[in-house]
Amino acid sequence: MTTLATLTAPRGRADAALVAAVDVARAALLEDVDPADVGDHLGATNEGERVVTHQFACTRRGYLGWRWSVTITRAPRQKTVTVDEVVLIPGDDAIVAPAWVPYRDRIQAGDLSPGDLLPVSDDDPRLVPTYSYGDDPLDSDDRAQVRQVAQDLGLGRVRTLSAEGRDLAAQRWYDGDGGPDTPLAQSAPHHCHTCGFLLRIAGPLSETFGVCANGDANDDGRVVSFDHGCGAHSEVRLAKRHEPQPLPDHVFDTLSTDEFESF
Ligand code: SF4
Repeated sequence: MTTLATLTAPRGRADAALVAAVDVARAALLEDVDPADVGDHLGATNEGERVVTHQFACTRRGYLGWRWSVTITRAPRQKTVTVDEVVLIPGDDAIVAPAWVPYRDRIQAGDLSPGDLLPVSDDDPRLVPTYSYGDDPLDSDDRAQVRQVAQDLGLGRVRTLSAEGRDLAAQRWYDGDGGPDTPLAQSAPHHCHTCGFLLRIAGPLSETFGVCANGDANDDGRVVSFDHGCGAHSEVRLAKRHEPQPLPDHVFDTLSTDEFESF
């Protein structure tokens, strides 16, 4: 059954001749598509001056909710309808692939394998140049020369951590396994800032973080916040009732010599 309805008219009144040209649109569609894959006419959309799109249900298996879309037009003062395009488009209920996520944005910490390369873009906000290349635009050879001179002069790394990069790292560490909210830290008897195993770091984060240097602790070698903690804190002492109890004497001693009464 053919149903004719104007779905939307975003740009003025739809051209009546084009709206009525359902059969022309269907014929154009059937030139490219198997008739078994074409269902009812779903409506017409006004695309602009003398441009209308007709939509037909798609009955092809695996394309539930998709629509055939046929856009037609006609010249001014002409009755002949011409076809602009025939495409298959997803409707509101169509199953479509999720939005594309660039590979760069999919990478998580820990995804790198030996030999993998993960270049950092030139405008990465986590880094700032350590020295300036000057105001003149330089090609890659000139920049390489500047880098070589900077290296010879001992100016250090090409780029260093920006304030934004540092803040992001601090927040990530504080919210992570080395922060104060983990079950380990919540049940710890003392915080890291009083622990003898806390290795101090230099720089702006030295007031908040250190590195755990206790080989028996879960966080050995990791950055921990001062208010993190664990049961391997250097000042942990067992309560009396948890201390090892001395063993009673053996009931039958096979190790030492017996004392005999001499008559
Ligand atoms: S041993 Fe525990 S309390 Fe001490 S620095 Fe390491 S994580 Fe912190």
